[in-house]
Amino acid sequence: MNAVIIGAGPAGLTCALKLAEGGVAVDVYESEPQIGGMTKSFDLWGQKVDLGPHRFFSMDEKINSFWLSQVGDEYVMVDRLTRIYYDQKFFFYPVKAINALTNLGFFEACTCILSYLKAQFHKKGEEKSFEEWVSNKFGYKLYSIFFKTYSERLWGIPCTELDADFARQRIKGLDMIEVIKGALIPHKETKHKTLVEQFAYPKMGGGIPYENMAVKLERLGSRIYTNTSVKGIFVEEGVAKGILLEDGSVRNYDYVVSSAPFTEMICTIEKFPEKVYKAARELIYRNTTLVYLQIGRSDLFQDNWIYVHDKSVGFGRITNFRNWSSAILRGKKETILALEYWSYDNDRLWKLGDREMIQLAKEEIVKTGLVMEKDILDGYVVRLHRSYPVYNTGYQDRMKILQEAADSIKNLAFIGRNGSFKYNNQDHSILMGLLAAENIVSGTRKNNLWAVNTDYDYQEGGKSLDEKGGKK
Ligand SMILES: Cc1cc2nc3c(=O)[nH]c(=O)nc-3n(C[C@H](O)[C@H](O)[C@H](O)COP(=O)(O)OP(=O)(O)OC[C@H]3O[C@@H](n4cnc5c(N)ncnc54)[C@H](O)[C@@H]3O)c2cc1C
Repeated sequence: MNAVIIGAGPAGLTCALKLAEGGVAVDVYESEPQIGGMTKSFDLWGQKVDLGPHRFFSMDEKINSFWLSQVGDEYVMVDRLTRIYYDQKFFFYPVKAINALTNLGFFEACTCILSYLKAQFHKKGEEKSFEEWVSNKFGYKLYSIFFKTYSERLWGIPCTELDADFARQRIKGLDMIEVIKGALIPHKETKHKTLVEQFAYPKMGGGIPYENMAVKLERLGSRIYTNTSVKGIFVEEGVAKGILLEDGSVRNYDYVVSSAPFTEMICTIEKFPEKVYKAARELIYRNTTLVYLQIGRSDLFQDNWIYVHDKSVGFGRITNFRNWSSAILRGKKETILALEYWSYDNDRLWKLGDREMIQLAKEEIVKTGLVMEKDILDGYVVRLHRSYPVYNTGYQDRMKILQEAADSIKNLAFIGRNGSFKYNNQDHSILMGLLAAENIVSGTRKNNLWAVNTDYDYQEGGKSLDEKGGKK
């Protein structure tokens, strides 16, 4: 049996490696020159950087042990420090009681508590939107300070039009009692992913496990074709026959696994009812523009990253690569920051040239007071087209139509973040890759891939990694 994998990101490479280890002949096609997808690391100004912050975290032993088997001992435990920049003040995240009280002031803090209590006694009925879900749980006041601005900047739509699924997948299990306990008791062991105080990070960058996987794959005789974009999936009479390349040639395989954008790939398959193509066209993605700034100082701030909720600037997050692993700095004294801007294809921001983006980023970072203009040495821009699948109102109905169509072809699987239109982190994409490979090798569909990152629950039965690769 042979299989083709479209896309050499975490999902595609995991699936490919598991298949190759199980004796399946595998070819991987990747449109970019470098493997790793959105979790790649690359050289910049003599240092290593990632595409924004890339923290690996999972409570699932299966995923942890797979990730660890790709990294070996070559990782460090990073003490997480992240803050929220809001109203020109810095709030620790996870929340710390004194800092939150000082920043909010006594009156605002009381309003937050009253609004939380009100929400507990007067919950709105069915929580369809992100706004309903979060304000029911934390109260409208806390929602408006800590969730609304950031989420609307990220998704580019009002939180009333953002499906509650986004909250269910990302902040499910987080409750006010745990937030308050964490705020009052320093270093309390936390159960929720968003609050963990330490995480494992590969010494030479978040992309290392995937580079190692690519080496293993080639040793097992698999081929990875970089710079080779797949134009479509070739299906005849309900059976996937292989892939269509840009030059019009067809390559035949027994099994096709795609981690390329789901909505695009499904539209390349002929003879679905028109409602399938319509549903695909109606699903949208958000883009990220990363502006890297080289700063001639090594003492800027201690955070790994800072969430930016403040309305005075347009970016949503700043990563400081100095605070991840000393090895990626390669002895350099300069600090590299990455500022994330989000936009849709037709937004002016997405179309700005590199020079304008760098100028904008310089002006805005200076406004925050974190960096002085005279210290900024250089800038570099990376554009990530379709970095976030958008869960807008009605997306579930469209996904249902698309999933049914996809499932009608037995020897085809859609995995990964864009590949299955799910707001995946690395751990979800790794899991999808593992489960897809299990399905193929066993010749079954015993694993429902669509359920990953939906009703699959991280919190249960697992432990995160410690410095020796054991359980924390
Ligand atoms: C700014 C940012 C920060 C993030 N931070 C974190 C974090 O802290 N922790 C975390 O776990 N996750 C984080 N993520 C998410 C993480 O990057 C993704 O979950 C992960 O990369 C998804 O892996 P994937 O294989 O599903 O998709 P991708 O990484 O998108 O890989 C898909 C691959 O398919 C290729 N491809 C697409 N179309 C074609 C085609 N037609 N033909 C051939 N190849 C194709 C792409 O080039 C890409 O290499 C972050 C993402 C972003 C954008």
